[in-house]
Amino acid sequence: MEDKIWLSSPHMGGNEKKYVQEAFDANWIAPLGPNVNGFEEDLEAFLKAEVKVVALSAGTAALHLALIECGVGYGDEVICQSMTFSASANPIAYQGATPVFVDSESTTWNMCPLYLREAISDRLSKGKKPKAIIVVHLYGMPAKMDEIIAIANEFEIPIIEDAAEALGSTYKGRFCGTFGRFGVLSFNGNKIITTSGGGALVCHTKEDKDKAVFLSTQARDNAPHYQHSHIGYNYRMSNICAGIGRGQMEVLKNRIESRRAMTKFYGNLFAKIDGVKILTEDNGDFYSNHWLTAITIDENKTGISREDLRQALLVENIESRPLWKPMHLQPIFQNSPYYGGNIAEELFNMGLCLPSGSNLTPTEKERIKSAIERKFDK
Ligand SMILES: *Cc1c(COP(=O)(O)O)cnc(C)c1O
Repeated sequence: MEDKIWLSSPHMGGNEKKYVQEAFDANWIAPLGPNVNGFEEDLEAFLKAEVKVVALSAGTAALHLALIECGVGYGDEVICQSMTFSASANPIAYQGATPVFVDSESTTWNMCPLYLREAISDRLSKGKKPKAIIVVHLYGMPAKMDEIIAIANEFEIPIIEDAAEALGSTYKGRFCGTFGRFGVLSFNGNKIITTSGGGALVCHTKEDKDKAVFLSTQARDNAPHYQHSHIGYNYRMSNICAGIGRGQMEVLKNRIESRRAMTKFYGNLFAKIDGVKILTEDNGDFYSNHWLTAITIDENKTGISREDLRQALLVENIESRPLWKPMHLQPIFQNSPYYGGNIAEELFNMGLCLPSGSNLTPTEKERIKSAIERKFDK
């Protein structure tokens, strides 16, 4: 059997070890230190907008803190894109709140502004105003932010942007993660850059950042002894992980180019195959980091289902994955309200993510290419 080709695997740049070595040399083996500050500054410089970044242990932790800072508590409702990874929605449940799921539109696969408006209006008519809106930029594709922001502003509901998959993506020239009251980034092992595990909260005010740092370091009041007036969390990023992050920031631009080149690679491959569509930018307002290349397969045209292709790749030891299964179809969220049609469900039924790593070799790409061509030739 040939070596496994992964969907998306870590790709070190080279200087990660240097920063980690510095941490060892100075004995900064803790969830604070120069790498944590340095990594936050690197991210702030990259995102350009006047943002303040808090490095955390995970993107999920960042979402949780964003909800807390938006005042989400027991019995509240939070609107959330249905088509996403469960980590977008789970922190709503951590707070004892109820997610209200909204369908996608078929251009970006992200939250549909029309269903968003319908959801807010209906929840208001039932006497409850949603406390926040979680919008996701799936696979790096920016959501239709102008429309979504206009609705959020109209109803005065804060936006939490889940940009876990979209570091480096832009909408109308502005970076994803910098539009909402809060933005969320992830540096898990499969993301476009990784700290082995980690995340960040993007804030716009010093107060919001200070509060996130306070909550993520066990909410210690200012006193020589351990004094607490709030429930705290242990969510800060370690100085070791942040060292990896600093090395990764040096190659981020290059990683975005490589991921986008993978989408081009698949674009050329599927150009000849009628019935396969790739998720691409609708127009120049959208710029995706193309974290993962995602396709939909029309079985009526191709005679092949996404499961057929997934199995065919698996036999060749090539990993691929169905798109995110929408949250409103998940057993754990079956009792949560849902607004929409069957866009996300159809995407799930037809969609597949293909190997998209920035570290795929020409030989590996050739293996992927011939496996796909063989499947569609039959
Ligand atoms: C990866 C991911 C997260 C969670 O990030 P972690 O760092 O793994 O906690 C949240 N939302 C989406 C859309 C993701 O892809």
